[in-house]
Amino acid sequence: MDNPSMVERSLRHVWHPCTQMKLHEAQPPVPIARAEGVWLYDFEGRRYLDGISSWWVNLFGHGHPHIKAALVDQLGKLDHVMLAGFTHAPVVELSERLAALTGLGHTFYGSDGASATEIALKMSAHYWRNTGRPEKCRFIGLAGGYHGETVGALAVTDIAIFREAYAPLVRLAATVPSPDARAALPGETAADAARRAAAGLQSWLEQHHGQTAALILEPMVQCAAGMAMHDASYLREARALCDRYEVHLIADEIATGFGRTGTMFAHQQAGIRPDFICLSKGLTGGTLPLSAVLTTDTVYDAFYDDDMARGFLHSHSYTGNPLACRAALATLELFDQSDVLARNADLAQTLDQAFAPLTRHPSVRHARRLGMVWAWDIDETVSGTAPLPHFARRYARHAMAQGVVLRPIGNTLYAMPPYALEADTAAHLARGALAALEATLADT
Ligand SMILES: *Cc1c(COP(=O)(O)O)cnc(C)c1O
Repeated sequence: MDNPSMVERSLRHVWHPCTQMKLHEAQPPVPIARAEGVWLYDFEGRRYLDGISSWWVNLFGHGHPHIKAALVDQLGKLDHVMLAGFTHAPVVELSERLAALTGLGHTFYGSDGASATEIALKMSAHYWRNTGRPEKCRFIGLAGGYHGETVGALAVTDIAIFREAYAPLVRLAATVPSPDARAALPGETAADAARRAAAGLQSWLEQHHGQTAALILEPMVQCAAGMAMHDASYLREARALCDRYEVHLIADEIATGFGRTGTMFAHQQAGIRPDFICLSKGLTGGTLPLSAVLTTDTVYDAFYDDDMARGFLHSHSYTGNPLACRAALATLELFDQSDVLARNADLAQTLDQAFAPLTRHPSVRHARRLGMVWAWDIDETVSGTAPLPHFARRYARHAMAQGVVLRPIGNTLYAMPPYALEADTAAHLARGALAALEATLADT
């Protein structure tokens, strides 16, 4: 494709993530020269609208001037210092702000989402150990849950293709039913589906709460499962069951945090307070890797002791990196400077209208939206001829030809665009999404 020398060099030495590298023989990676706002630009000056926010990390568009200026300023002051034995203004201010936003007053830092998952799991089990109940060291996740792909995180990630090859390495958690609203039977509501899933959680906890440290879940939207959305009542029932059976509730808000689902954090739609919140992705506005685990005074106090071994002896070299924390602060300042959630609610209406022809398409099942997440399940069988395999791969290629980055998960097409869309870019995204669907269905 463009700039063949860069593609060749990439294929020779770069091992790309989540990729069967041999597939790049037919479909090489796209070299990107720069990005601005909602657009990615290649070396030929072609541009692609970033319809999935570069894997769900970007909030306010690429190269946002406020975040850029904060990073330049921070680079002139302090690039990095280890956080063990030292502290610095960006990490202090960020921790204060996260505490004020969530009511969870203690923040521990990592660099990626998967490390946040592992920090939360370790903290939960260590809490029970410090409080005299070391047998509470097992975990529960939801069917189809995704919490990252390191060995520890895979224990609670229920997505076969990510886990199968590593099954012998993983100490598998228990899986309870997903409250996915699509599981509602004819005549049932999403709340009915949620109630049935909660009953499954209850019967698990009845038997196994004595060995169970925590339930981890993605509140409101299980993104990697294909944007499986559920009724907020599930979170209230899960919170009540976790309280009754003395099990921690870990809210993995790595994808759903920072306004993505319409509230600052998704669990707020249920009016609950988790024991742990995992954050990453949008935390830095999509500029730098940073993750955070927030927890309560109760958990924190159980580690506070003269005994070293009762402390949380976990670290990463870049824990609390000042540049990343500063990018996170600049991102939160953007939430202060205007009513982002209200603007997003208006923008979502504009997008609903723009997406209407896609939503009405005869191949679409279960069109759904929460906040700034849209999803449509595509039934290729209604197009007449037998569908070719690999819908997602074919669709993504047609989308690129339309100037939009959209990468379905299985047969679920979704859009998770940056909040920086305007009427014209929203129209471009919707037009491209529909045209790519029609081109994909016409594949023979
Ligand atoms: C992306 C994601 C993770 C993993 O984050 P990484 O930074 O990719 O390790 C964990 N949980 C959820 C809900 C995610 O969407």
